[in-house]
Amino acid sequence: MTRLTPEVVVLGTGAADGWPSPFCDCLSCADMRQRRRVRTTTSALVDGLILLDAGAAVPSAVARAGRSLREAHHVLVTHAHPDHLDPALLLWLDWNPTPHTLHVWGPPAVASACRDWIGPRTPVHVHEVSPGDEIALSTPSGTYLARVIAARHEGCTPDAVAAEAVLYDIATPTGGRILYATDTGLLDDVAPMRDAAYDVILVEETFGDHVDHGTGHLDLSSLPVMLERLREVGARTESTQVVAVHLGHHNPPEALLRDRLASMGVRLVDDGTVVGAPRRELILGGARSGKSREAERRALSFADVTYVATAAERPGDDEWAARVEAHRARRPSHWRTAEGPESLLPVLRGARPGTAVLVDCLTLWLTGVLDAASPDWEDAAALAVAAQDATKELIDALSACAATVILVSNEVGMGVVPATRAGRLFADLLGRAHQEIATACDTVTLMVAGRAVEIGDGRG
Ligand SMILES: [Zn+2]
Ligand SMILES: [Zn+2]
Repeated sequence: MTRLTPEVVVLGTGAADGWPSPFCDCLSCADMRQRRRVRTTTSALVDGLILLDAGAAVPSAVARAGRSLREAHHVLVTHAHPDHLDPALLLWLDWNPTPHTLHVWGPPAVASACRDWIGPRTPVHVHEVSPGDEIALSTPSGTYLARVIAARHEGCTPDAVAAEAVLYDIATPTGGRILYATDTGLLDDVAPMRDAAYDVILVEETFGDHVDHGTGHLDLSSLPVMLERLREVGARTESTQVVAVHLGHHNPPEALLRDRLASMGVRLVDDGTVVGAPRRELILGGARSGKSREAERRALSFADVTYVATAAERPGDDEWAARVEAHRARRPSHWRTAEGPESLLPVLRGARPGTAVLVDCLTLWLTGVLDAASPDWEDAAALAVAAQDATKELIDALSACAATVILVSNEVGMGVVPATRAGRLFADLLGRAHQEIATACDTVTLMVAGRAVEIGDGRG
């Protein structure tokens, strides 16, 4: 069986009070407000079937991500703190009952909190779990197996709910594996995760540089220790995507936090980001439409990025060299760069899961293909065949690529019909290539004046 990476929609990445925190105007909250940024309470949706945690922000987060809970068959709740469980969700289910039963799993306090919210006809079944349990989660796509692992969530005050908090280790029917590890301090015993080789680890990082919080949470000094322990037992591998969640305002402003996390190989993603399964994203736009910046912004959430600069060398062209240098200066120094149109396919073929490949841009890649086929661009038939073959090869490489690929290209078809024969031919061939490549992409975005317009998934 081929192992398929699960799709994990990270619905929320914020701490209990969200980020920014409502009554706070510290630097890191002010930075978020000024940019209208919000991180709501931590939650995720696995393959559309399994909801991880269900705080009050979940219904709106699900809607913002363009999803619904109609197909959700299970809700795994870590503990009954309000940011992880708002039992009113069951009332919304009662108002719009699903044909199947929704199974809610959680420690004892979760079950008692749900009790008053279940009507005689609510299609729900609540199960109590405790650490060490293995539970079978049946779904229309097969049976997922979840293991319940003890969290370490107690703070300085006794708190019965925190004492029973758990983590979930989920194995999917297609061989994928996820660790949901929020609301825990440093675990001394990671033996239950031995050899798990997770595809995705959602790990909490509530406190940033505040290390004397004395609570059952992680911070920027304990997180790397936890990750190292997971690596030692083979739970975190080279291919594991580690995503930081339960982020609070004690963290440095996002731009700084992103770099700090990247140095640990940890992703900082926006609420609503899909992680796990690799994605193909096509970004089209005219000159100076903001397409490269948009692509770079998306790639920034990955700890490991290969940037493919498809421009061929242009010896003696200073203006061109200055443009290339300006792009280069904007990129984080830890990104790897591959240069030239011929580097594209080898990079796609060699890319590892959990990483990102940013291709800027397909216009120059196709130019390189055509230059090689007919250096004077005279043989129109040869050029058309070369473009077609190269496009097919690219689509095959894209479909097989283990990494997320972000493709940038110029939408050249919107200007006037080019005056030269070569110009007209190029616009035709590139337009055709875009149409075909789009069918292999999960999303297609048009950039206009720095704004991104989603034009649907590539399958139309
Ligand atoms: Zn929490
Ligand atoms: Zn908690």
